[in-house]
Amino acid sequence: MSRFLADKYLSLKEYVPGEQPKGRSYIKLNTNESPFPPSQGVIDGINCAQVKSLRLYPDPDASELKEALAREYGVKPQNIFVANGSDDILNFSFMAFSQEGAAYADITYGFYKVFAKLHGVESEIIPLEDDLTLNAKKYIEKNKLIVIANPNAPTGLCISLEEIEEIAKTNPDNVVVIDEAYVDFGGESAAKLTEKYSNLLVVMTYSKSRSLAGARLGFAIANAELIADLDRIRNSTNPYNVNRLTQIAGIKAIEESDYYKTNCQEIIEAREYTKRELKSLGFDYTNSKANFIFAKSPDIGGEELYLKLKDKGILVRHFNDERICEYIRVSIGTLSDMEKFVGAVKEILNEKS
Ligand SMILES: *Cc1c(COP(=O)(O)O)cnc(C)c1O
Repeated sequence: MSRFLADKYLSLKEYVPGEQPKGRSYIKLNTNESPFPPSQGVIDGINCAQVKSLRLYPDPDASELKEALAREYGVKPQNIFVANGSDDILNFSFMAFSQEGAAYADITYGFYKVFAKLHGVESEIIPLEDDLTLNAKKYIEKNKLIVIANPNAPTGLCISLEEIEEIAKTNPDNVVVIDEAYVDFGGESAAKLTEKYSNLLVVMTYSKSRSLAGARLGFAIANAELIADLDRIRNSTNPYNVNRLTQIAGIKAIEESDYYKTNCQEIIEAREYTKRELKSLGFDYTNSKANFIFAKSPDIGGEELYLKLKDKGILVRHFNDERICEYIRVSIGTLSDMEKFVGAVKEILNEKS
């Protein structure tokens, strides 16, 4: 750190992304990326002519992309916001809507806490229940910005659309952000509810179900006035926040939704296979509707299992948080990846006994 850094940033606790290993090649089940490549249209769409056009700025309104998204989700382009990954949208939401503070779960996506700190926002941390479910009743009449990942991370557990409605209804003067990064793996989207609740902001990403984590593309669906607020922040920081190649990738990916739906189905099947195998090995896990499993074993601690899997060339995620340190989070890869994962777990448990 230099002596020039502003005091207000001295105590920042940065977000720590999952490892992106260099050198040794791993079966990478640690950052919830898709094991499948982007669709052919995306690959063909980012061609030589498009690369040549990189000398030009991208469309700051991303009009074509927004129209494609609006068609896909049955809303109007003015109900769509696009950004450089959904992390950007979450950041903008904290900047724009947290004047009265923010409320979110103790165990959830780690970035919420980071954004709150970055912007000096007072946070009310609402503990999950003992079984790691989120009790929607605890979010009623909070009168502050509410941020809920649905499905939640790293548990994969969902709340219902009725519960989301109840939260939106009882917090009419504040924004309720529903982070749907994993909704395509078995959750139910609240996107349609944004027509009814002008305070509801639904955030989604191309990073997980659409195989475009490296392109950085997130979007939000909400009332046009909320979108205009986000645009005000975007235009005051970086109006060209979605680059030309990413806009094309997004449009092409939407055109090939069937390909991604098939991939999601395969991931869901591999997830359920992995659950069954882990169950027979005595593991306990949450009923995840996401592209990962959150599991613990009575026979081996979370950190030890994480390290032993890494030794065997399989990367999973372990969190050092007191409430969940016995767990590992395992992203769902191809069925063959998951068979290798299960095989490695069996070996590790055998070596221990
Ligand atoms: C991965 C993830 C994001 C971030 O997605 P990007 O679009 O890649 O920035 C947001 N929220 C949750 C809960 C996530 O797991």
